[in-house]
Amino acid sequence: MGFGGRHIGIGGALVLLILSFVFHRNLFSVFLGDSAYDQPAATSAPQSAAAENTEVQFVSFVLDDVQATWEKLLPAAGTRYRRAKLVLFRDGVDSACGQAESATGPFYCPDDEKVYLDLGFFEELRGRFGAPGEFAQAYVIAHEMGHHVQKLLGIEGQVQRMRSINPREANPLSVRLELQADCFAGIWAMSTEQRKIVDQGDIAAAMQAAAAVGDDRLQKMATGHVSPESFTHGSSRERTQWFQTGLKSGQISACDTFGR
Ligand SMILES: [Zn+2]
Repeated sequence: MGFGGRHIGIGGALVLLILSFVFHRNLFSVFLGDSAYDQPAATSAPQSAAAENTEVQFVSFVLDDVQATWEKLLPAAGTRYRRAKLVLFRDGVDSACGQAESATGPFYCPDDEKVYLDLGFFEELRGRFGAPGEFAQAYVIAHEMGHHVQKLLGIEGQVQRMRSINPREANPLSVRLELQADCFAGIWAMSTEQRKIVDQGDIAAAMQAAAAVGDDRLQKMATGHVSPESFTHGSSRERTQWFQTGLKSGQISACDTFGR
């Protein structure tokens, strides 16, 4: 293994790699000179920042893709599409729906039309579940965007009114709202299948991964009316079933979780 001018061997390279992780510095460029690398050691990015950058790029790509899908579908259903904004956070975050404490997990706030994604939650998905974890991340984003579509279609507002009229129905209504967001996520997944972006064989594993991490990270919203994504509302089976309904039909009308 000859990098630049010096020869360090596989063992040496491994040690340098581990030390680079430990010290958050690219020690290859320290030991081997800058010839093999574009950046000098002093300005090389820490490993954690590089990983975070990958995460941010992935999240932005999926979010854009989901929005582009709904930008086409909603006008066909007679509703103008408004883009949701993305907020990435670690630990706590302030939203128009209240303050989210640490380990909140992802959520959508209808009041400011923003999708809030917890990077720690996402890293856990990827780290614990590998490839299914990656699709699980995409599914979580598509699910949150499903809540945005519910807001734009006026469904979220209707459910809020029904909840205040009949508080006893609040929980079953939340479940139906969650399952519909899963169905809407399925509609997006159908478009990815058509474009061969995602391998659909991983869907069930991905949904189980999302649910497993979700259970560990119960959301705590200090204030606000939005019901947090607990992943315990609606069974895994129901959620997968509604996701599949969206995936197979690609139709908003097929996602009537309130009617049946
Ligand atoms: Zn939800």
